[in-house]
Amino acid sequence: MHSYPDASAVVRALAPDEPVILNRPQAAHRAARFFVEKFPGKSLYAVKANPSPDLLLALWAAGVTHYDVASIAEVRMVRATLPEATLCFMHPVKTAGAIAEAYKVHGVRTFSLDSQEELDKIVAATANADGQPAEDLALCVRLRVSSEYSELSLASKFGIDLADAAPLLQATRQVADSLGICFHVGSQAMTPFAYVQALERVRAAIVDASVTVDIVDVGGGFPSIYPGMEPPPLEDYFGAIHRAAESLPVSYSSELWCEPGRALCAEYNSIVVKVEKRRGDELFINDGAYGALFDAAHLGWRFPVKCLNEGRADADEEFAFYGPTCDDGDYMKGPFMLPADVAAGDYVEIGMLGAYGAAMKTAFNGFDAVHVVEVADEPMATQYRGDRRDPRVSDNVVSLR
Ligand SMILES: *Cc1c(COP(=O)(O)O)cnc(C)c1O
Repeated sequence: MHSYPDASAVVRALAPDEPVILNRPQAAHRAARFFVEKFPGKSLYAVKANPSPDLLLALWAAGVTHYDVASIAEVRMVRATLPEATLCFMHPVKTAGAIAEAYKVHGVRTFSLDSQEELDKIVAATANADGQPAEDLALCVRLRVSSEYSELSLASKFGIDLADAAPLLQATRQVADSLGICFHVGSQAMTPFAYVQALERVRAAIVDASVTVDIVDVGGGFPSIYPGMEPPPLEDYFGAIHRAAESLPVSYSSELWCEPGRALCAEYNSIVVKVEKRRGDELFINDGAYGALFDAAHLGWRFPVKCLNEGRADADEEFAFYGPTCDDGDYMKGPFMLPADVAAGDYVEIGMLGAYGAAMKTAFNGFDAVHVVEVADEPMATQYRGDRRDPRVSDNVVSLR
């Protein structure tokens, strides 16, 4: 893959008519080392945030050995890319065929579930030809927890309510070699308290069911940095999780897991787009809602932007973007801060698109052409540099919803 110092060098060399995705493997490596060294347990990379094989190889090289996969296509792809990796199938609703292939062909032993039906399905699909049940399953019961401290809820679709959890935990204990409890506090959790509160619910579930628990999996949700969303340092999350998990009534040999998606890959990608037209404070650019900017369109997520043309004014005016498709909904309201004199033909770098950005591109309306290169500079924001200011002592507004 071609490598450049930074986005400006890419524009000078290519003057690209199509969007260009910039990979920063060094940023993914740094994020992975941070989790491997500082999270007080095991870190599973949640592949759906960005399934790029190049990224998977960078994370593996940095010491991430476990991968949270959610579909049989992800199982196959990660197994093909990382033959030695441990795969954990953490989608609570799977097909019997997917479970059987994952277990029998790809060596998957860890599965999540949130219902008796799914438990029955897993037991049946992993039994051997004589109908003998598998004796090497690690089964994680997904508990429903609050998403109130996160920017993106994951509380409605999956997870068993605490009030109903005891029978399922007991039934799962009967067939599992290892019993886990997992949850997801929602993506971009803006305070460590989200995990502390969820772990209190885990405690109640364990006490209610009186079962021995071997794995406590706090899921994903670890935040990255975006305009208007500056979370506390990740060390605060790790410390709060460590203290809360230490006091749970679990066996001494129990394991603590987490499943970061966003936090491991947000800094991995940015994208260079071209301004095709300007209409007042609206810029028509060549990527959008059906490309890498799904969250900007559908969730109103703001990403950092930078005009790459020299000699422009200070970046202090608010702009909205239209993407390239013919759909009115291909609109990103921002606001995105760019120079007042930005014009058609200019190039803009949009940062922090490694998580749920590059992974979301579709071919709708024929706008799927994309070029990928590597760059060596820093991402537009980072959680992982020692000199990062602590937002609690700055004048930044932490957005808590
Ligand atoms: C999406 C997902 C993750 C990753 O979430 P992030 O907010 O990106 O960290 C982890 N675990 C499960 C089960 C998920 O569905």
